[in-house]
Amino acid sequence: MSQGARRAPVFRTLQRGLRLRCPACGQRGLFRAYLKLNQTCPICGADFSRSETADVAPYVTVMLIGMLVMPVTLLLVLHAGASADTLLMPSLALVLVLTLLLLPRIKGALAALLWRAQREM
Ligand SMILES: [Zn+2]
Repeated sequence: MSQGARRAPVFRTLQRGLRLRCPACGQRGLFRAYLKLNQTCPICGADFSRSETADVAPYVTVMLIGMLVMPVTLLLVLHAGASADTLLMPSLALVLVLTLLLLPRIKGALAALLWRAQREM
């Protein structure tokens, strides 16, 4: 089998990771808990033992959410005349909800990309 035939397409790998699915077979086998990766996919046996993302997933999540929430909050305070005190609790609630929703998806995407990169070595 040639190297190109074994390589999974980047977009498909990324999409499956974002959907918390195994990058190899597309079934639900990437995570065994909220942020715990399976060592192998229970469906196809793909090896995720070296796909742990460490602190990169929280770092990327914080950066994305900060880039989304901070400008909106600043625009509301500076141009719409909203009080910073009034926006504090809704902004924090939005950050919390976005973090809980995005963190496993970003971790899944990064783990899927690591899995793909390690297949090419
Ligand atoms: Zn699988």
